[in-house]
Amino acid sequence: MVKAKDYMKAAVWEGPYKLSLKTVEKPVPGDGDVLIKTKAVGICGSDLEVFDGRFKQSVPPMIIGHEGGGIVERVGPGVTKVSPGDRVIVECLLYCGECINCRTGMYNLCSQHKVIGMIGHDGEYAEYFVAPERNVHILPENITWPEAGLIDTLAGPVAGIEKTNLHLGSTVAVYGPGPAGLFFCKLAKLRGARKVYLVGTRDYRLAFGEQYGADVVLNTKRDNVEEYIHEDTQGQGVDLVIEAAGAAQALNSGLEVLKKGGELLIYGVFGGGPVPVDIQPIQINELIVKGLNGSPLKYPDTIELISDGTISVKQLISHTFKLEDVPRLFSTGFISSREEDYMKGVVLFD
Ligand SMILES: [Zn+2]
Ligand SMILES: [Zn+2]
Repeated sequence: MVKAKDYMKAAVWEGPYKLSLKTVEKPVPGDGDVLIKTKAVGICGSDLEVFDGRFKQSVPPMIIGHEGGGIVERVGPGVTKVSPGDRVIVECLLYCGECINCRTGMYNLCSQHKVIGMIGHDGEYAEYFVAPERNVHILPENITWPEAGLIDTLAGPVAGIEKTNLHLGSTVAVYGPGPAGLFFCKLAKLRGARKVYLVGTRDYRLAFGEQYGADVVLNTKRDNVEEYIHEDTQGQGVDLVIEAAGAAQALNSGLEVLKKGGELLIYGVFGGGPVPVDIQPIQINELIVKGLNGSPLKYPDTIELISDGTISVKQLISHTFKLEDVPRLFSTGFISSREEDYMKGVVLFD
């Protein structure tokens, strides 16, 4: 007897600026897969890049959303780590596990990588989604569903700060006071930074700086950032610049405030195409430039940092939404224009 198919609601992306709520087939977990009843999904800046077609690796039609978790509904054959009823958070990077990058722990650079809700795999703005067991992490009871929507946002900076040469007494300038930039400030202090400068353009975001460990908060609309940092560092510049804004202006300013031999970490997404950057300082001052894409192996540490209270994420949740709201949030530009002092939104499910 053929079993009748089950259906669910999902936000389906069908090409640039085309996102709508549809009724689609509920996914079935294959070998090693877990079917999850969605409870929370963080809204990410990358979702916007997919929505308007800037992220070229996304191919429609596809359900988007990639920073979520929920309750295990069913497991496929061979799954042993989790069982129905477990609360879990899901890491979105899919990888082969066999290429040289995977075998050396850099599965974010897998030669056959996919990303849930972005590249080649349906995402999480849906009542249910599937993910491989190895991407699924148990969520401690004391992390609420809205907070779970920020685990991915914190995991990137956790991976990033460990890629840098930051040491006791370092000076750091973080550009971009969004959730990731604020987490970078906090993590830099935890790792021993002596002084952290947070640079941005929106006062309501910069206002979180102090809580996240920034010693100096600078607004480019008011302050001469380059002059201030040079004077404050006795003309040396900072040891480390973290670009978490994805803006050419931030990148150029960051290169100006770096000390000779200093290090630049690029985390901001520049999906819009080439930007004008003066690269001469990189050569003249022997600067070290690093990129960061994803957070390989960092979910367990990130979950601990939130669970034990080392890093608080909940004050950054400015908005919560329902699945039905998702198409409108993107099509009206609510998220992209950061209306109503938008910081981080989480889509919650019943
Ligand atoms: Zn994301
Ligand atoms: Zn691989």
